[in-house]
Amino acid sequence: MNTQKKTDENIKNFLSILSDLIAFKTISGQDNNDLINYCDNLLKKLGADSFRTFDDEKKRVNLFATLKSKKSSDKMPIILSGHTDVVPVSRNWKTDPFKATLKDNKIFGRGSCDMKGFIACALTYAPIFSKSNLDRDIHFSFTFDEETACQGAPLLIKELDKRKINKGICIVGEPTNMKIIDAHKGCYEYTTHFEGLAGHGSAPSKGVNAIEYAVSYVNKLLELREKLKMKVKNDSVFNPPYTTLQIGKISGGIARNVIADKCKVDWELRPVVKEDGVFVNNEMNNFVNEKLLPEMKKVYVNSSIKKEVIGEIIGFDRLNKSDACELISKITGDNSRDVVSFGTEAGLFQEIGISTVVCGPGSIEQAHKDDEFVSIDEIKKCFKMLEGIKNNSIRN
Ligand SMILES: [Zn+2]
Repeated sequence: MNTQKKTDENIKNFLSILSDLIAFKTISGQDNNDLINYCDNLLKKLGADSFRTFDDEKKRVNLFATLKSKKSSDKMPIILSGHTDVVPVSRNWKTDPFKATLKDNKIFGRGSCDMKGFIACALTYAPIFSKSNLDRDIHFSFTFDEETACQGAPLLIKELDKRKINKGICIVGEPTNMKIIDAHKGCYEYTTHFEGLAGHGSAPSKGVNAIEYAVSYVNKLLELREKLKMKVKNDSVFNPPYTTLQIGKISGGIARNVIADKCKVDWELRPVVKEDGVFVNNEMNNFVNEKLLPEMKKVYVNSSIKKEVIGEIIGFDRLNKSDACELISKITGDNSRDVVSFGTEAGLFQEIGISTVVCGPGSIEQAHKDDEFVSIDEIKKCFKMLEGIKNNSIRN
């Protein structure tokens, strides 16, 4: 078959798979079993082995499937990694967000770009890989709830480490316009809950005002924010080059003349290095335990301050030598390296020793938006990369 014909056929298969994937309403937090079963069946038919990891209720599932190499070699296995969840949709879509719509060489639908498009590319290439004379394993890693602070992936990564699948190259296909991304900051999200004692506004000393303690807490965070700026590394690849901290939301109290017994603060931290996260959390724990809580408990012994961890997406660090980046450069001829401002699962793979790169079709500009789309041109670029992976993974 000539190249054009092959591409046309791949696009046809891709469209059919992506349409199926988009039709599964896998908004973060919801059941994704049907989508995982679909992917698993498709890969099993090609002879893949697979295993799953779950949340406690088995409502949300990670899938890890492997097309085994047919010959032994010293080539590292390759992991094609994508998350199966998508963000919620608004009413403003021009088309049905859960029905793939092809228009002007673009496919519209929730997740088309972030990142069911990449998963569909990987699944389109699965039969091509399986028919090839592979001399390395090709893995498919499909996770749940990446969009809600990477809740699914850690369960899978733990299992990979246990099974000693901790050497290899991982391509996280988040939308980067197929550019090579080799670093991003971490993203830690917290909600801190304050509970004091309600009372009449005319006698503040008889109650414990949760809002006022929350304000002290916020002030301490802002003080630390200034300290973080001082910790800037000269060789930082990020903009801004230091760890940032931000208060996103404060809610509490019921009326002007009532002492507020409850308050909560939503805040986030984007660490450049892990140590900054440890620094902030240690400082805040000390401040709470040595100053705020004792003061609150002096008036009301059941007062409390509880920090809830919404998620801690670890950063993805730039390394001097990256097998993953080098492989993509070799295939695509693109030697550039860049950073992004969004978080991904890349740092989790990197943490257990897997060489990782973020590179996938579509633009982050379209992610999480109404009328999300991925263009066919981007998909063709992704096919080129997968074709290169195949050629790098066969012995002629
Ligand atoms: Zn994503």
